[in-house]
Amino acid sequence: MRIGIIGVGYVGLVSGVCFSDFGHTVTCIDKDRNKIEQLKEGVVTIYEPGLEALLEKNMSSKRLFFEHKLDDFIQDFDVIFIAVGTPSRRGDGRANLDDLYSVATTLKKLISPSQILVIKSTVPVGTNERVYKLLNDTCQENIELVSNPEFLREGSAIEDFMKPDRVIVGLKSDRAKKIMREAYRPLYLRDFPIMFTDPESAEIIKYASNAFLATKVSFINEVAALCEQVGANIKEVSKGMGLDGRIGSKFLHAGPGYGGSCFPKDTKAFANIGREAGVRQEIIEAVIKANEAVKNRMIEKILGIFDDNVSDKVISFLGVTFKPNTDDMREAPSLTIVPALRDRGAIINIYDPQGRREGEYLLKNVNWFDSLEDAVKRSDLIVILTEWNEFRALDLEKISALMRTALMADLRNIYSESEVLKSGFEKYFSVGR
Ligand code: NAD
Repeated sequence: MRIGIIGVGYVGLVSGVCFSDFGHTVTCIDKDRNKIEQLKEGVVTIYEPGLEALLEKNMSSKRLFFEHKLDDFIQDFDVIFIAVGTPSRRGDGRANLDDLYSVATTLKKLISPSQILVIKSTVPVGTNERVYKLLNDTCQENIELVSNPEFLREGSAIEDFMKPDRVIVGLKSDRAKKIMREAYRPLYLRDFPIMFTDPESAEIIKYASNAFLATKVSFINEVAALCEQVGANIKEVSKGMGLDGRIGSKFLHAGPGYGGSCFPKDTKAFANIGREAGVRQEIIEAVIKANEAVKNRMIEKILGIFDDNVSDKVISFLGVTFKPNTDDMREAPSLTIVPALRDRGAIINIYDPQGRREGEYLLKNVNWFDSLEDAVKRSDLIVILTEWNEFRALDLEKISALMRTALMADLRNIYSESEVLKSGFEKYFSVGR
């Protein structure tokens, strides 16, 4: 099968690489010429474990190609996936569909009814129908449109694509079903669930899934705040709750709030979809507020360590990406917490295994370090903000000896108070304990 992918970001690139590994011939197209030139040279433009090797393998097998111009190649494909970004619109939080409609408008002139167009980007309910109408307003023979939202997680994207919990496909015809089954044939053969439904339900499944997970995170973060007040331990509470099979232990870890390229924008878009439909999603509106509140609570927690005066205190952040194993900084809690402390006079040091390249544009007037030891030297507080694996087994004695005042704020609850205090730290602060 010949597959075209338009938009080569986290989703488009991972999908393209994985589809080519399934044996299809894939061409990935992006308007960003620089990105395409790098990919043509085999340079991976994002940090995603395992991606580089798989890209190399499929490029050298001549199954994976990268191109800049859409027009020249479109006739070559059986299926075309759109995976452009759908970020939050400034102001009202609606999904910004400008890139999607720009691609659809270009395709309208180029695509033929023998081809199938698939929207992989996360889009509000009704978008598939609107794009369908846009494509078909002048045609005699209809161009088929399929909704195939993506559920991969950055940091484990390849595993998620190759071994998904489910593939959701919203469509209207048996022909489209046959073609989509062929595209996902290796998964179909290995009995991974492929659920066929209508496009509107597929669109809602994507948003409702992310909204539900964000709710779980915000719920446990609020319970953590309560635990701090009443002397309970959120780690014990999460464990006790998670043992209930109806609840499950995933997404029940207290921390500094959710971030990333999906939860913040998708919760806002989902709330907006509800308001526009006249069916307010009150729970998700509360979740959005709760997530802002938890970030502010983290700022207050750190300020409280220094009696509200962080002027000239050196605070070293370990991790600034929104989660480990990614270089993605979009909506990371660090983007709220770090500037708030910097603007109150703190001197900020940062070490992140992958976040520097992106982070340097977003976090100004801070000191970046390529080594953890250099970042913590002569500092007054280390803040563990992202739970990278390398922060799980820190040489705490060495670190405390390097610091000016050995204090730790462990916002991911990686350590216990006793082991930190035993290792030369004066004080240890965590979340919900
Ligand atoms: P991204 O911002 O990383 O990448 C989008 C790419 O589309 C960019 O490279 C951009 O240059 C390209 N693009 C934009 N307009 C274009 C055009 N007219 N022609 C060609 N290329 C164009 O986005 P992403 O994180 O990959 O997300 C893509 C979609 O998938 C979004 O709707 C997102 O919500 C959804 N999604 C993302 C994730 C994730 O973890 N990142 C997971 C599941 C779903």
